[in-house]
Amino acid sequence: MEAKSGQSTFPDQKAPLYNPPLAEIETVLRKGLEKNFGLVSVSVAECPDLRETPWNLAAPGLCGNARLADVGGVPNLVPLVDLENIQYFDFDDVAKRCDLPGAFILGAGAGSSRFVGVNCELMPNLRTAKEDDPGRIRSFSAKVSEEDGSCILERYNSREFSLLANLFLSEGNPGKVLKVEASNRTGDQNFVTCMRLALAEHYGPTKPVALGGAFLIDKGKAKLHVMPAFSKVPLQTDKDVADWLRFYEMKSQLVCLSVFISHDPDLDLRLEHTHCFSDHGEGGHYHWDTTPEEVKYIGYFVPAQDVYRLGRPKSTHNVGRD
Ligand code: ZN
Repeated sequence: MEAKSGQSTFPDQKAPLYNPPLAEIETVLRKGLEKNFGLVSVSVAECPDLRETPWNLAAPGLCGNARLADVGGVPNLVPLVDLENIQYFDFDDVAKRCDLPGAFILGAGAGSSRFVGVNCELMPNLRTAKEDDPGRIRSFSAKVSEEDGSCILERYNSREFSLLANLFLSEGNPGKVLKVEASNRTGDQNFVTCMRLALAEHYGPTKPVALGGAFLIDKGKAKLHVMPAFSKVPLQTDKDVADWLRFYEMKSQLVCLSVFISHDPDLDLRLEHTHCFSDHGEGGHYHWDTTPEEVKYIGYFVPAQDVYRLGRPKSTHNVGRD
């Protein structure tokens, strides 16, 4: 157990995931998305080079030994951060503990408050170090401006994060992926929840299926939050958390890094988590699009073979997991 500080934790855990063929997931996603969007296209496709704009990822693709990592957890943040013992993690260490040193990592987490100077959202997007290769960091963070409360999106050139993260790891290779397009939202589920629930309904609790990847909110606007400085008062309910967070309507294009799993194989997982960045200074934690008629999503996803649970907090609760 490599946790550097903070609350006592479980030892590292790992569970296998169900790995259906891509063509089968394609059908399941299409069926689910068609209940929630007017226009849907799902196919098995060759991954485009995700290093190029508008994606700007740290690796060309999503393929090769894909896995999920759920690190730390909301109990490290809510009801209160233990300021004397803030838990910090290192992406290179996470990659090793997930048996994939040098992994390409994307996802959603909390940035290091000692690196940024304040609590913040983290959009991990990096290739971790391996032997002589230092890797490649393309991550962003988003914090709340102390002057006017606006969102400040910045490059995040550190391998450190804290408190919690939901991560997708792979070798970052080109290869076959699920290409998912959806527009004209007619239902009340967001893009990610819709896909997660479609998987959950089809595969049930005994066959957990997880996907990770990136999607673009290509048109329309979306509601995102950014965490401000740590709360000084305990956040006891979802309403307390919502009152503490800062919400924004942000405009496309937003590049969204997403991790979701259909069922929790008893590892106290967060079931979905998506963080976004952009080239126009906006980014944060994705909730849903606010322009259902206008919105257009384009995404690439790959199923994960295993899920790793690192730094699992000893005590848990369900507040603040939305
Ligand atoms: Zn988040």
